[in-house]
Amino acid sequence: MSCKFIIVVGGVISGTGKGVSAASIGLLLKFRGHRVDLIKFDPYLNTNAGILAPREHGECFLCDDGTETDLDLGHYERIAGINMSKSNICTSGTLYKELIEEQEAGKYLGQTIQLSPHITDKVHDRLLELGKDKDVVIAEIGGTVGDSESYAFFEAMRQFKQKLKDDVLIVMVAPILWVNTIKEFKSKPLQNAVKELQRHGLQPDAIFCRVDRHVPEKILNKVSQLTNVKRECIFEAPDVQSIYQVPLEFYNRHVDDLFVDLFRLSRSACRIHKYREVVEKYIGNQSPAVEIGVFGKYDNCDEAYMSLKEALMHGGVANNAKVNVRWIKAEELEKYKDNRGLHKYFEGLDGVIVPGGFDNRGTEGKIKAIQYCREKKIPFLGICLGLQMAVVEFARNACGMTDANSLEFDNSTSHPVVHFIEGQGSLLKKSATMRLGAYECELNKDSLAIQLYGNKIIHERHRHRYEVNPEYLDQYAKKGFRVSGVSTTSGLVEIMELDKSIHPYFIGTQAHPEFKSKLQSASPLFTGLIAASLQNKTLNSTIDKA
Ligand code: GLN
Repeated sequence: MSCKFIIVVGGVISGTGKGVSAASIGLLLKFRGHRVDLIKFDPYLNTNAGILAPREHGECFLCDDGTETDLDLGHYERIAGINMSKSNICTSGTLYKELIEEQEAGKYLGQTIQLSPHITDKVHDRLLELGKDKDVVIAEIGGTVGDSESYAFFEAMRQFKQKLKDDVLIVMVAPILWVNTIKEFKSKPLQNAVKELQRHGLQPDAIFCRVDRHVPEKILNKVSQLTNVKRECIFEAPDVQSIYQVPLEFYNRHVDDLFVDLFRLSRSACRIHKYREVVEKYIGNQSPAVEIGVFGKYDNCDEAYMSLKEALMHGGVANNAKVNVRWIKAEELEKYKDNRGLHKYFEGLDGVIVPGGFDNRGTEGKIKAIQYCREKKIPFLGICLGLQMAVVEFARNACGMTDANSLEFDNSTSHPVVHFIEGQGSLLKKSATMRLGAYECELNKDSLAIQLYGNKIIHERHRHRYEVNPEYLDQYAKKGFRVSGVSTTSGLVEIMELDKSIHPYFIGTQAHPEFKSKLQSASPLFTGLIAASLQNKTLNSTIDKA
């Protein structure tokens, strides 16, 4: 049987949860035994998401194969549980680049190269290629209908639907607005978005109405009447406490039945029960609660550190605890000379993360935060730049190399304790040139790392240009800061930790374990951090009471 395609588009505003909706539909169809894959078409001209500002665009999600992508692919992996790679992301930039290179190589001699059919055909090729061994492919178009830069994708989908007819369904995700001043719902913007889609020659087969409160039946009927979409194909998609509830909400509304019927797929049972149990347990987890401080480049940055935030929640589930995240702008710590001033940032924190990052903004503040955690025995997890800063901190404050630094921030330091990975120093191109993707690492016996992972060989994803300089490792080891994991292919330092006798939980990894963490299987380093933070909290409350 040929593959079926669901095209997910957005209306009115972006950020209404197209990605989560696409992933949730994917999960339900997967639970019904269908082979599902997802692809995101992003209208921007960048050829990879690795050099977009996370503060504006959200985090760069990294795949096993090293592809740097949009955060929606993180939703696809975490919610639908499908591993993403290069074939699951397509930006306008990549399509145009490919076309220009082909043209220069002589592929289209004599032809006029045009948006249609050249770009549109490429979109079709990507969809068909992905669908080769799948039952259903779900394709999300970034942005909203009407954006001038996404025209090519909408035109491509119109032609695709014309070719494959009933094997292609169009789904719109758009809000029905609640106007508080007049206490009324307004569906006009949504209706207009559908009209805009119709102008592209596309008629939605289903609409997911994003709402922050229950919408009366009469509004949904009106939407049906005015958009020409059957009432049973219009779903209320309410805000929920957690994105993991969305598949359950869709299931309760028989969204999967609708797709199965429209596509004439077999009506097999939906094996959602285990998933439901995990989500309900997660939602129900209200206590004990731990507070984790993330000393990053930005504050208030759920989107910029999306996978990290999710991994913290997963670590909470693994420990039957609720996790509250406090975002702290590390730069702020730089104005304080000693710990007395810093104290207020740590009050009420049970554990700390210093996340990955680029450029030197806030790095000295991160170093101060790490020193505080090391000296006060606060559970600490350093991720990528977080490990590198932990090494700088230890070299400076425990080993007396006062000007120790990373070459990324000071290339005249006499102690380059973090230096370029071999070959990286001479690279001029900035896009997709780092050490990227999943690498194998061997953990040392008796380490905290092996205890947490429960395995000698692990694979985690990487995205970095610098590494821990091995020249100084003996000096750190003498003071209890040791390597606990090394790359099996390159010998690079992957994980370092303080001896258990010195600190209850102080560990840093060159990888980004947050990208592989799932609700059902939390990343071991995050599980360990939450467990240690719970112990720290208990300890502190005992001390407080004494
Ligand atoms: N900037 C550092 C490097 O390139 C750390 C990167 C990261 O945290 N992902 O090595």
